[in-house]
Amino acid sequence: MIAPLKPGEHLVLSLGGLGDLLQQLRRDGYQLVGPTVRDGAIVHAEISGIEALPAGWTEVQEAGAYRLKRRSDGALFGYSVGPQSWKQLFFVPRLRLWTAHRTEGGFTVEKDEAAPPRLALIGARSCDLHAIEVQDRTFLQGPSVDPDYAARRRDVFVVAVQCGQAGGTCFCASMKTGPRATSGFDLALTELFEPHRFEVEIGTERGAELAGRAGAAPAGSADVEAAAAVVQQTERSMGRRMDTADIKELLYRNQEHPRWDDVADRCLGCANCTLACPTCFCGSVEDVSDLSGDTAERWRRWDSCFTLDHSYLHGGSVRASIRSRYRQWLTHKVASWIDQFGTSGCVGCGRCITWCPVGIDITEEVAAIRATDGARSGESKEPAT
Ligand code: SF4
Ligand code: SF4
Repeated sequence: MIAPLKPGEHLVLSLGGLGDLLQQLRRDGYQLVGPTVRDGAIVHAEISGIEALPAGWTEVQEAGAYRLKRRSDGALFGYSVGPQSWKQLFFVPRLRLWTAHRTEGGFTVEKDEAAPPRLALIGARSCDLHAIEVQDRTFLQGPSVDPDYAARRRDVFVVAVQCGQAGGTCFCASMKTGPRATSGFDLALTELFEPHRFEVEIGTERGAELAGRAGAAPAGSADVEAAAAVVQQTERSMGRRMDTADIKELLYRNQEHPRWDDVADRCLGCANCTLACPTCFCGSVEDVSDLSGDTAERWRRWDSCFTLDHSYLHGGSVRASIRSRYRQWLTHKVASWIDQFGTSGCVGCGRCITWCPVGIDITEEVAAIRATDGARSGESKEPAT
């Protein structure tokens, strides 16, 4: 009798076996969400199986630049991270909270309580698994639990992929969030070639059970070593880094640094960085009514600390300048987040760098402040907000 598979064990799955595994997940009632090529980018979308994955595609990323490129092999996961993280599946961009209907003597309120789909994330990377943990602290582990987020996060199955290449803008090794996924998954795949196959690390009992059903076989030491070498090479080739030593104190004591004026001259206040960031969680609530005035709805939608209205309080915006808004974002992300949640709010995915239209680079901004620690702007008249 074959002993049951256990978390921590390593297996090998053929290309066809991965296809079977995805179909088993669908038969188990999961909706597959994975990478696919659309509109010139690798995006996350509902997929029906292995044939939807971005076979033979990779991407080139730099500050303010992203483009797809063909690979010479048929890699299914031969890219780093696309524009979207997984946050849009759990902290959804637009959410109707309730609908109110006028009645004879007043009004009634209906809550939107449709059951969310049971999701299987295909191809999640280590940085994004850490980002999910960061958002869980905000929405599930704070003084109040967000019920919609909680319902969407429940029973999510995660098939992680170990990064086989560093993206042009990522720096997860500095943030200690990658490139090797060590937790937060049911199964973690490393894509290997000649022959095309996947080394599989089991993360949970249900992952073990699924891999067994998909026909995964025990991995030999050569496959385990080949998989480890893939991630080591990714770490070695990571082009960016952020020095995080005493970063909280560094930013707290440099609230009047002239670099904030410099970045304000370049920043458009467009909010792209916060929308692409897998950990940003700002939202706003707005009410809308139909023309008859008989029905009203309350919606929550993503917002950003880069919008002027986000810090509007009784008659004015608390952070009226781009300088103060960028400073707030960066200081929160890598400094005050630590006070608030016990970890950094940055997982080093690099999306804010790639998707900034003017190529502002969070690693460069921190390095510039560190290089001239203690410098003060002569022009600043703003209080340290
Ligand atoms: S701040 Fe930038 S690099 Fe850090 S997690 Fe957000 S998008 Fe990724
Ligand atoms: S840093 Fe870049 S992406 Fe973020 S608001 Fe400024 S211009 Fe937009």
